[in-house]
Amino acid sequence: MEAGGLDNLGNLYQEVILDHSRRPRNFRTMEGASRQAEGYNPLCGDRVTIYVKMEGDVVKDASFQGSGCAISTSLASILTESMKGKTRAEAEALFETFHDLVTGERKADAPALGKLAVFSGVSEFPARVKCATLSWHTLRAALQEGDKADGTGVVSTE
Ligand code: ZN
Repeated sequence: MEAGGLDNLGNLYQEVILDHSRRPRNFRTMEGASRQAEGYNPLCGDRVTIYVKMEGDVVKDASFQGSGCAISTSLASILTESMKGKTRAEAEALFETFHDLVTGERKADAPALGKLAVFSGVSEFPARVKCATLSWHTLRAALQEGDKADGTGVVSTE
């Protein structure tokens, strides 16, 4: 884990990201997860497994395991927090908004982003975009590919 490259993210945002990378929320395996998927970012070495418990079309609970850089870990922490109570369609819409944010297509002005807005500074570091989207891609794989018989999907964002 290294904090290099975070210096320009802005103090408040940097603080939130460091807090979540040091004390990740929802950092646990999940008993009886309805869906799970693994993701790997070879550029940085980030690895993540996302667990989701669905109730109908709504995310009832989300958690993750893995190891990665500060951005990757804090994103997984904030993302799993943000997903609770969201439908699959809402999660998908939020991903589009977030993707626009970290690729510089939009400013952090969408209320739906909530705490995820702290990653707006990533747009200035194109090499780190995959760190900030790894858990997203993995979550989407879990939500979409999770319909397979074994309930697991494996994804690489390479
Ligand atoms: Zn990373």
